Amino acid sequence: MAETFDALIVGGGAAGLMCALTAGQRGRRVLLVEHANRVGKKILMSGGGRCNFTNTGATPANFLSANPHYCKSALARYTPADFIAMVERHGIQYHEKELGQLFCDESSKLIVKMLLDECAAAGVRIETSCSIERVTHGDAGFHVHTTRGASSAPALVVASGGLSIPSMGASGFGYELARQFGHAVLPTRAGLVPLTLSGKHQEHYADLAGVALPRVEARVGRQGFRAGLLFTHRGISGPAILQISSYWQPGADLRLDLLPGIDALATLQELRQDRPAAELKTVLGELLPKRFAQRLCEAWLPNRPMKQFNAPELRQIATQLQAWPLTASGTEGYRTAEVTLGGVDTDELSSTTMQSRRVPGLYFIGEVVDVTGWLGGYNFQWAWASGHAAGIAL
Ligand SMILES: Cc1cc2nc3c(=O)[nH]c(=O)nc-3n(C[C@H](O)[C@H](O)[C@H](O)COP(=O)(O)OP(=O)(O)OC[C@H]3O[C@@H](n4cnc5c(N)ncnc54)[C@H](O)[C@@H]3O)c2cc1C
Repeated sequence: MAETFDALIVGGGAAGLMCALTAGQRGRRVLLVEHANRVGKKILMSGGGRCNFTNTGATPANFLSANPHYCKSALARYTPADFIAMVERHGIQYHEKELGQLFCDESSKLIVKMLLDECAAAGVRIETSCSIERVTHGDAGFHVHTTRGASSAPALVVASGGLSIPSMGASGFGYELARQFGHAVLPTRAGLVPLTLSGKHQEHYADLAGVALPRVEARVGRQGFRAGLLFTHRGISGPAILQISSYWQPGADLRLDLLPGIDALATLQELRQDRPAAELKTVLGELLPKRFAQRLCEAWLPNRPMKQFNAPELRQIATQLQAWPLTASGTEGYRTAEVTLGGVDTDELSSTTMQSRRVPGLYFIGEVVDVTGWLGGYNFQWAWASGHAAGIAL
């Protein structure tokens, strides 16, 4: 005999826990099923163990989706201030790192504890190490057959996340379930992920592994991010690269402004005037990490005393420095990606309730949906906001 609930939630990550506590607070009998041995594993590992739990500047412009309007309603109805209020109610100390990114002072464990305490107070039942074998749907609602028995409810919330970090419990379950119920799933790919280089592109940079450029602007098309870049053994990483990786596709033209916010031509002209005998690699080594400047001059740029460059040559070098091409061959994939781009198509979901328009009572929230945030607390804000929207609707 199946146990009955008002709502079954699949996935005990950020979105599922938020949905559960919201629905529980409204008197709904909620069962949350998590197949890993504990809930909130990604919260625990996030932000280097300190969880960048929101971004005070979050707006719909910080998200990628085939429908950029979809996230607007949920984000407007559950804001960073709402989540901060909960964090403060639980006495969790936090600080702003940069650009509105809020981190716990102590540990991400406190965020998981807060969510679990709220769930407990709201009477939510949580089953961990519980795998789902089958989901069926009939007149009486949804029936979920798990390794711990069967449960049924008029509502089923899919909060099973994306494909990134399979070792943390990530699975394609949500996409399969969406397809089972006739929903389209947009192609998925790794986002917020290091890029790899290959062939001669890799050879030129390989021994720079560990060299960091504190500030570049990484650009693909009209999208650009100013932040740090780090050379790795297999390619490039660092916040600027992670951010732009979500906009990069194989074959895309990736450019780096190596001197963002600086007029490279004016700077080179001044240097030629002030230090005519200094070589290009020496003066560039004062604007960029020395090893990197040296490599630029060994492999691509002519290295001569500054006085030997004429005006067009300096202009050419300045242009190169501000739109340096980097030919990435791929990404490091889901193994290291922070998020999964694409996912359940928002076309047949309600943006106010997250409910399916095809199958009443079926909801999709969090990362499984085709909404992906930038690096910097935006992905959790989407998880909280979409989880809250569904929790209110249940
Ligand atoms: C290393 C790392 C660091 C990150 N840092 C940040 C950060 O600081 N700030 C930020 O905003 N975002 C960060 N992110 C992204 C953020 O963690 C995710 O966007 C967010 O966790 C998505 O929430 P979710 O609830 O949709 O999915 P998840 O948190 O992935 O939760 C999904 C849950 O469903 C479970 N599950 C999957 N399949 C099944 C199944 N078949 N049955 C039962 N349970 C299932 C999973 O085990 C998991 O617990 C980080 C991601 C990674 C990988």
